[in-house]
Amino acid sequence: MGFTSDMFVRPISDIKIPNHDYKTIFKTAQQCRQHPPQISLYASHYHLMKRVHKATTITTTCILKEERDRCSSPSFTSHGLRFIRGKKLLSELSTWRIGGPCKYFVQVFDRNQLLSAIRYCHERSIRFLIIGKGSNCLFDDAGFDGCVILNRIDFIEETKPGIYRVGSGYPFNQLGVRCSNDGFTGLEFASGVPGTVGGGAFMNAGANGQEISDAIYSVEILQTDGRLETINRNDLAFGYRKSSFQDMQDLAAIVAVTFKLKPFPSAREQQKEYLTKRRLSQPLGERSAGSVFKNPEGIGVSAGELIEKAGLKGFRLGNAKISEMHANFFINCGSTSKDMIELINLVKEKVKDKFKVELREEIQYVSPI
Ligand SMILES: Cc1cc2nc3c(=O)[nH]c(=O)nc-3n(C[C@H](O)[C@H](O)[C@H](O)COP(=O)(O)OP(=O)(O)OC[C@H]3O[C@@H](n4cnc5c(N)ncnc54)[C@H](O)[C@@H]3O)c2cc1C
Repeated sequence: MGFTSDMFVRPISDIKIPNHDYKTIFKTAQQCRQHPPQISLYASHYHLMKRVHKATTITTTCILKEERDRCSSPSFTSHGLRFIRGKKLLSELSTWRIGGPCKYFVQVFDRNQLLSAIRYCHERSIRFLIIGKGSNCLFDDAGFDGCVILNRIDFIEETKPGIYRVGSGYPFNQLGVRCSNDGFTGLEFASGVPGTVGGGAFMNAGANGQEISDAIYSVEILQTDGRLETINRNDLAFGYRKSSFQDMQDLAAIVAVTFKLKPFPSAREQQKEYLTKRRLSQPLGERSAGSVFKNPEGIGVSAGELIEKAGLKGFRLGNAKISEMHANFFINCGSTSKDMIELINLVKEKVKDKFKVELREEIQYVSPI
């Protein structure tokens, strides 16, 4: 077989060998070892090829192993993240404790991991859902035929007095306590909301006349194409349990929120007062998702009052029950999503029949497919 020295004498960076070609070159290098005059020139290339061969074999074995693991085991690692396949129950990820398994599950602890998880899903056309504490979600018994990304990005930094930059996975109730203890007003209500900062911004959480949107200065988001963007409060629109994020087609996730709060010496007392009021009026020890329905606007009566006036307080359907303490809280007493959905529909029907008011769900139902 004929060959020339330039075939091998090239900078290593130039060697771009398609996987199937290195074998021929390796064989050639091996042959040229047998020719003594050329041995010094080719011996090093023989060893180089041997290394290329070994590296390629290792890489191929790793890729094959990853693919095999992905297909067969309940958990696998990809993009440096540990994914669980088909085993993670959504009931473990929601305060309602309802929901079947999701096809993939992964936790992310920082922005890069979030980006990797989204890339993984994007490249494989896997539907994904980012969740915080699942305190506003109704998952289906059939689970979710996609990837659930559990947000654990929970840093907090006070960049200036009253200005907090907070990871979207940071517990919202802890933020409420921290800011109030520091003597700042705006988030006292948050100490009773068992969600995350990201979930709070997405839902525009609020209570006691306060809303998260009033305290937001800017929001860092990740787009589905991997771009990061910081949006100022003035460029966002919020309403009652409504935010621009709910309508953003290309939103992958809220990554961090910056809050700007005003000093208020009585913030701590205010926060404690709100929490006491909540403990006396809401069934906090029960499995619920908070208020099921939004309060109808402009009629001066809350959804809870309408449900109570319709005679439904304490009503039970299967293992789903309307709380005796707060009629807008529906309790899981061993319920399926089917029981809960039937109870929600029944309440809507009764309230509409009796008061001609159309109740709208505040909770987010996550369709399995
Ligand atoms: C006992 C109890 C009391 C409650 N009290 C209140 C209250 O006073 N006021 C109030 O407003 N709500 C209340 N809630 C409801 C709930 O806690 C809030 O809506 C909360 O903001 C949801 O946050 P989460 O992290 O649990 O969101 P999840 O339930 O995990 O998600 C809710 C929605 O937000 C989206 N989402 C979550 N994180 C992100 C993110 N990082 N980026 C993009 N989208 C995201 C999810 O995809 C989903 O659509 C209460 C709930 C309970 C159980």
